[in-house]
Amino acid sequence: MKMQFTTSLLFLSMVLLSCGTNKNKANVGSADANQVTAIDTTIEKTFAVSLVNNKKDPSCGMPVTAGISDTAHYENLVLGFCSTECKNEFLKNPKANLAAAELK
Ligand SMILES: [Zn+2]
Repeated sequence: MKMQFTTSLLFLSMVLLSCGTNKNKANVGSADANQVTAIDTTIEKTFAVSLVNNKKDPSCGMPVTAGISDTAHYENLVLGFCSTECKNEFLKNPKANLAAAELK
């Protein structure tokens, strides 16, 4: 009887310990995720105009010098867009929209 009690106590403390460990890991994970998001935001805002082949966002007509927050590859070209929405709009029909990109 005493043996059984000890075993269940051991089991219980193992469960509690593993719970605590998981919680710590989860906290570290979310902290890392926040950091990655912050870094990504910085990268998003620093796409260099010299790296893209277009002068204008083909979807909204905004000059790429105003800021590039997303890019797409199309037929060996790198195209800059002011937003992901504009990129998605372009990719729906890239052939028809390419002229508006005013390639360099
Ligand atoms: Zn745009």
